[in-house]
Amino acid sequence: MLSKKELMEEIFKEILECRKCGLWRSRRNPVPGEGSLDAKIMFIGEAPGYWEDVKGRPFVGAAGKLLDKLLAGVGLSRGEVFIGNILKCRPPGNRDPRPEEVNACTPYLDRQIRIIQPKIIVTLGRYASAYIFSKAGIPFSGISRVHGKVYRADVLDLDITLIPMYHPAVALYNAKLKSALEEDFRILAAQI
Ligand code: URA
Ligand code: SF4
Repeated sequence: MLSKKELMEEIFKEILECRKCGLWRSRRNPVPGEGSLDAKIMFIGEAPGYWEDVKGRPFVGAAGKLLDKLLAGVGLSRGEVFIGNILKCRPPGNRDPRPEEVNACTPYLDRQIRIIQPKIIVTLGRYASAYIFSKAGIPFSGISRVHGKVYRADVLDLDITLIPMYHPAVALYNAKLKSALEEDFRILAAQI
């Protein structure tokens, strides 16, 4: 049987060669995700931005700095969680993901979730939240309605505590949303 590491490396290789949607043409580097393969908590963002595309690593730009602070605030380091994205390649100009791109790319995320088998999934922003809600069979009524709520859900046959949150990038320029995100991290802390 293949180890978690081998299974994840296989996914990384496939992503490197992937042409399942058009985003491979404009990306510099795919961003498969990183962290512990035994993570109890998985964070799922939307898609790589400028710096993620340059470095091939998730959340290394301004939104990532905020995420690092929020993680540290609840005593978590990057190394003990797993941070992934709905899309592995950057949409040009950071435009929103298109449905056909989400459809093409999310089988990679599903496989990553199955390998890691987290207890808690934190979805960052509406795209990640809408996707995982659909997997859980929960109607998604919008991120402003559901953020900070704790859902017990069946996701890919795993028993998951699901906590949707605002995306750190929107919190950067909106003090109210930043407070909401900080509050949602306290809710996460209470679950750990
Ligand atoms: N925003 C995301 O959604 N994901 C990243 O990896 C970086 C910024
Ligand atoms: Fe493949 Fe996903 Fe990149 Fe599209 S975004 S090319 S599906 S890895």
